[in-house]
Amino acid sequence: MQQGRKQTTRRLSLKLVALVTVVVVVAASAYVVWTQSRQSDAVESKVLAEARTLNTEMSAVWDYIDDSQGAINYNSDGSYDFKGIYCSMAGKAIAQRFTNASNNYVVRYVRESPRTATDEPDRFEQTALNHFTVGGSSEYYEMTEYEGRSVFRYASALPVKRNCLSCHGEPAGVPDETGFLREGMKLGDVAGAVSIIIPVESYVQESQREFESSVAFFCLLAAAIVAALLLAMRRWVSAPLEQANRQLENESQQKSDFLATMSHELRTPLSSIIAFTDIWEKSHAAEDSDERKLVEEIKQNSSVLLNMVNNTIDVAKLEAGRLSMQCSDVDMVDVVEAVFAVAEPLAIKEGVSLDRTVDPEMPFLHSDAEALRKIMLNLVSNGLKYTPEGGSVQVSVRASADGRQAVMRVADTGCGIRPDNFEAIFKKFDRPGAGEDGPISGSGLGLFLVKSLTEKLGGTVGVESEVGRGSVFTVCVPFDGPATGE
Ligand code: ADP
Repeated sequence: MQQGRKQTTRRLSLKLVALVTVVVVVAASAYVVWTQSRQSDAVESKVLAEARTLNTEMSAVWDYIDDSQGAINYNSDGSYDFKGIYCSMAGKAIAQRFTNASNNYVVRYVRESPRTATDEPDRFEQTALNHFTVGGSSEYYEMTEYEGRSVFRYASALPVKRNCLSCHGEPAGVPDETGFLREGMKLGDVAGAVSIIIPVESYVQESQREFESSVAFFCLLAAAIVAALLLAMRRWVSAPLEQANRQLENESQQKSDFLATMSHELRTPLSSIIAFTDIWEKSHAAEDSDERKLVEEIKQNSSVLLNMVNNTIDVAKLEAGRLSMQCSDVDMVDVVEAVFAVAEPLAIKEGVSLDRTVDPEMPFLHSDAEALRKIMLNLVSNGLKYTPEGGSVQVSVRASADGRQAVMRVADTGCGIRPDNFEAIFKKFDRPGAGEDGPISGSGLGLFLVKSLTEKLGGTVGVESEVGRGSVFTVCVPFDGPATGE
């Protein structure tokens, strides 16, 4: 029993571990999916911040050169002398130097109608320029491939400022100071765009590292939680429960032991009483006195009591796992005779007719004769007990249609059983219908024992009944003994 309890606790712990593991695996998977989906967003927001910083820096250069045009082109004597250091020239030169010096970064300026080939926009830049021209936001970006590498591409609109007009404004088609033809642009028009390319491999690797370390941390945390949970379960739930269980089992065992001992002690004097009444009856066989009737009554009541005591002992043995089946070749005729020897006097006393039919062709079966006798005796006793005077109890034994089972059938014309009680009647101490028409003595162990013994013999028991008309109990046991080899 202790072994069984340990196994139950182990099974419970395993179930708990499995449940917690499933929860952790599901949570970890959801976390991984969620983190991975956020990973590219996180990389993008980092490179976007960097691109904006670079763009601000390039704008500062552009504005500074633009604001310094007077200082650059006017000599100290106040004469105008165009030096060719204007904003786009300086911006492009600085961008080119930055591009050459940096590791795979690119910064350049592009425009719709380029004056030189280096200002020619590529597909991304053209899309950005179109976006700016139709009045979209002043920046445009995407994660993409560039020369076989993963990059972040960013473009920011360059608006036409007042100082731009001297080279790019009206009148269109007239050469400016640098010799290029003016485009006739107006203040606020899109002059072009700063185009920035940032390689993202290092950001992706960093984000991957962050991801891996957070997954590792999450797993460690989950493992720690599972371990703590199991420890807490063991310490505060399983251990006290086991202790309480042990205590209850001990108490229950003590009660069963007491009941079994008491029953055992009762069986000896009861058997003696029955034996003495038998001897007395044989020696007074010719008499038909009141005394004889009294002795008969003592014998029958003792038999009923002995059956109850035997049932109690068998149930105690069954629950302690000490009731094993002893199989041998059994002649069902002997079993029926043994049952009738006890039941017939009872039937006469109750005024119920008791009949038997055993198929003469019935072969011997490999089973436990004593168990079969107890099964039949309990069913017949019940039949007699729950059938009023004038009724009948019929016992029949035959082979099943397929010839594999012995079928014992006990039918009575008694009070019957309500269908909703069919299950309960086979439970220990359950006596659902007993006493509905007045108290009927019993312990509620008979059918429990019938079912338990039948199952131990590898068989089945069934009941059909109609209230007020009677009941039929059918027990089927295999001819070749229980499958477990009991
Ligand atoms: P007991 O007869 O000692 O009460 P059993 O386990 O033998 O215990 O039967 C359980 C219950 O099933 C009985 O209390 C009774 O209500 C019902 N029962 C059993 N056999 C019959 C029967 N042949 N006819 C009607 N009711 C029965």
